[in-house]
Amino acid sequence: MLWEGLLNLFYPEGVSCSICGDEIGDVEIDLCKNCIGEIEFIKDSFCEKCGKILSDANKSLCSDCRRKDHYFVKGRSVGVYEKGLKEYIYLFKYNRYRNLAAPLGDLMGIYIDRFFSRRDFDLITYIPSHQERIRERGFNQARLLANRVGERLNLESKGLLKRRSETIKQSKLARAERIENIKGKFILKDGILVKDKSILLVDDIYTTGATVNEASKVFLDKGADKIQVITLATGRDVE
Ligand SMILES: [Zn+2]
Ligand SMILES: [Zn+2]
Repeated sequence: MLWEGLLNLFYPEGVSCSICGDEIGDVEIDLCKNCIGEIEFIKDSFCEKCGKILSDANKSLCSDCRRKDHYFVKGRSVGVYEKGLKEYIYLFKYNRYRNLAAPLGDLMGIYIDRFFSRRDFDLITYIPSHQERIRERGFNQARLLANRVGERLNLESKGLLKRRSETIKQSKLARAERIENIKGKFILKDGILVKDKSILLVDDIYTTGATVNEASKVFLDKGADKIQVITLATGRDVE
């Protein structure tokens, strides 16, 4: 079993844990047993569709997915957005612990192998950050995670989407653009073709799913075959 396997990894000396700095040796994931133990991994009773932890284990879908369908085919997450994982994502995103992209991306890679078929993906991409936030933080955490996932899967991760500029005044746009502009927050980058492609979409946290859903719709509207989603952390279903 994956989570037991993770906890029972053999740790020879040499390399240090990306979180606490303890020596761990040359292991598949640069995290020590203690720091891995702080993560609540998703093992069972998760929503079949979006991967969120279910409050009622007898159901197969979360309350959100029972109410409405999503544009993506399937979403999965590594762990619950609580305790250790919440802390690590905070360090990664806001304290700019860039080196956490490696172990966190590796955890996503393990979950991808568990829940998806690698051969199923033509393209790997990520949710773009707000330009402003990238400037503040210096990086887009979802892009770094997607790059690491791509390395593991031997598939290049590419930025396919851009955020619609929020600063463009509606009045300055042509009519067609105005209509486009109110439709959603993402558009395909120039020259990107996704027709008939199967896309793996990477993001850090799944909450309502609105963001990845909106991105998925952009791809489907442009003829993509299907979209699947992997995130690091997800919430619990609230009935
Ligand atoms: Zn550690
Ligand atoms: Zn769901």
